[in-house]
Amino acid sequence: MEDQLARLDRDKAVVIFGGTFDPPHLGHLVVADDVYYRLAPAAILFIPAATPPHKQGERHTPAETRLHMVRLAVAGDRRFVASSLEVERGGVSYTVDTAAALRDAGFSRITVAVGADNLVEVPTWKDWRRLLEEVRLVALTRPGYDLGDAPAELDGRFEPLEVAPIPVSSTMVRGRVRAGEPFRYLVPPAVFDFILSSRIYR
Ligand code: ATP
Repeated sequence: MEDQLARLDRDKAVVIFGGTFDPPHLGHLVVADDVYYRLAPAAILFIPAATPPHKQGERHTPAETRLHMVRLAVAGDRRFVASSLEVERGGVSYTVDTAAALRDAGFSRITVAVGADNLVEVPTWKDWRRLLEEVRLVALTRPGYDLGDAPAELDGRFEPLEVAPIPVSSTMVRGRVRAGEPFRYLVPPAVFDFILSSRIYR
């Protein structure tokens, strides 16, 4: 188990905050801040997927690079942990497997946080019914998406959590970089420097 996880209090919940993080942006940090404030977990685990199940076949930045950017994004905030669990496991990343790995590491209280855009996809996740018996699912508000659009099979199976509205997405950041438009303040400073120096998204 990673050093960063070893230090966490097993009596408290941990939050799985998974995604592609291509790149991590201010929306991720602002909503994670609200989740921490509301749920008081041991930590929020930012877990970049190795291969995201729903983005197979699409071009995306190598997993190691996305993990590096997530590390840069959360550095200095001990409430947030950049986890290599899924990148190290490799292959297609399924949340049910990640939750099992965390349970094996001694975390018995696991919360999964998803943005409103992601919530509608939960019924397509591997073993989602079993997953939802084992974890608490929290759905975060996001501008442009409505938690009320969740499929009926999710009724009563998630808790809505209102977070600060940040209309920023990774797609928007990549598009701005490609177009040569300003994006400096849409990402954490270290991520901005990395995107410039590595020339990704150009
Ligand atoms: P892309 O534009 O490439 O689809 P994204 O901005 O949605 O990326 P992801 O890495 O897919 O970023 O997001 C990880 C998680 O964070 C998802 O559950 C997503 O719904 C949530 N999320 C991302 N941005 C926001 C935001 N601005 N407000 C609320 N939730 C967000």
